[in-house]
Amino acid sequence: MKWTVMTLVKRASEILSERGIPSPRLDAELLMCCLLGWDNRVKIYTAYDRPLSAEEVEAYRQLIKRRVKGEPVAYITGEKEFFGFRFKVTPAVLIPRPETELLVEKSVELLKSMSKETLKIVDVGTGSGCIIISIAKLLKKDAEFFATDISRKALDVAVENAELHGCKVRFLKADLLEGVEGKFSAVVSNPPYIAYSDRRVESSVKMFEPSVALYAGKKGTEVIERLAFQSFDKLEPEGFLAVEFGEGQSEKVRDIFERAGFSTIKIFKDLSGKDRIIVGFKKE
Ligand code: GLN
Repeated sequence: MKWTVMTLVKRASEILSERGIPSPRLDAELLMCCLLGWDNRVKIYTAYDRPLSAEEVEAYRQLIKRRVKGEPVAYITGEKEFFGFRFKVTPAVLIPRPETELLVEKSVELLKSMSKETLKIVDVGTGSGCIIISIAKLLKKDAEFFATDISRKALDVAVENAELHGCKVRFLKADLLEGVEGKFSAVVSNPPYIAYSDRRVESSVKMFEPSVALYAGKKGTEVIERLAFQSFDKLEPEGFLAVEFGEGQSEKVRDIFERAGFSTIKIFKDLSGKDRIIVGFKKE
């Protein structure tokens, strides 16, 4: 049988669906684009009848096989879209999640409304660098950008992404903000916030994504707690800390922020209506 782009995408999508993969059609299309070096899925519809060679069919079969085993598409293709920008990802970094776009959106809004001459922003636990790079692209203001991560391998990916997007970010290897010099106008972070015992974590996340980026400790809020206390000292007066957190943690993180000294505290919901982002302001 002679396969074309469309007939093979359809077949692969059926296979993925039979194996219980959550978004079979999208995944089949993304993997086809990866195979053919296409950067837009529209190509699948405009070049739907492009015939595939036996080698291409075999190579595609290998990609689909990896997906069937649970490997996330982003690790297979080596990239993920976030806030409309494309980021390189490897198994050393967490795959950027759509919920985290809210953290970027709120941070940019708040930064734009700040009256300071020069802003200094640090992203803690930057992973792929998606947060700080998106902020740098969206914030059309004079600012200095910094990012930390405890993992050298993650920082390598973030450096590459900053270059790819033409952003000047200073990357530092650090455990949160430990040993980081200077004061900041804003600290932003999507830290690890899953409790060790949390059974809701999907198996493909557990199997493939870096545990250092996911798990915080017994309670899940341990890293947020350390970060809140560290950040309070590192913030300029009027500065803010914006952090993403997990389901059911909203009371706990509010309490942590209060204990750390933040005065005005705001919590924002994500698109599915769940409390997701906390922002604390440091008053003089
Ligand atoms: N900042 C990165 C992201 O949001 C990585 C976060 C993490 O590793 N916990 O995708």
